[in-house]
Amino acid sequence: MRLILIGPPGVGKGTQSALLVERLGVLQISSGEIFRREIEANTDLGRLAQRYISHGELVPNGVTIEMMAKKIREPQAIKHGFVLDGFPRTVKQAMALTEIMDELDESLDKVVSLEAPEELIVSRLSARLGCTRCGEIYHAVNKPPMREELCDKCDGPLFVRQDDLPETIRERLRVFREQTAPVIDFYKDKGVLVTINGSLEAEGTYALITAVTAKV
Ligand SMILES: [Zn+2]
Repeated sequence: MRLILIGPPGVGKGTQSALLVERLGVLQISSGEIFRREIEANTDLGRLAQRYISHGELVPNGVTIEMMAKKIREPQAIKHGFVLDGFPRTVKQAMALTEIMDELDESLDKVVSLEAPEELIVSRLSARLGCTRCGEIYHAVNKPPMREELCDKCDGPLFVRQDDLPETIRERLRVFREQTAPVIDFYKDKGVLVTINGSLEAEGTYALITAVTAKV
């Protein structure tokens, strides 16, 4: 199975990817994680990406595409299939992905667009707490810390991250919509887009995803 998960922050892409990996054995290819790994390993691509990230800029298409292509061409990904997360973010990236798949003589099965009302996303994300010391993330409902305001792992103080403040979340959602709308249209035109309700419990959304992908 070769899938793309598209959706705003807080819609549950991470949770759904993890379920797909665990239950269907596909590989998760997440652009954020690949950036981190390439940077850690200090590769040429990693150093290039770091230059942009450290200036608070988006990593350019060319660098992102090259990193993702490397991963998609790996034998493991070809054998087990994959779920892409965080890529493609632009139509240019989507077109490059089509080329990579063509070269491999493969194709995407579905592009799943996860949607949820803005209010729900804001309430989900603003219930998150981060540890100032070790970076562990908690959630008031889904993953509460054992003691209020203290990290289970390192006793560090917990706080609401800047990223998870309601006004920051709304801005992140606005940017997401602006950036991703053309990518969603691109896949709609290709006839591979399915829209899935991301406002259900994780298992409910997972059932919807596997129902549409099972028909592939
Ligand atoms: Zn901690």
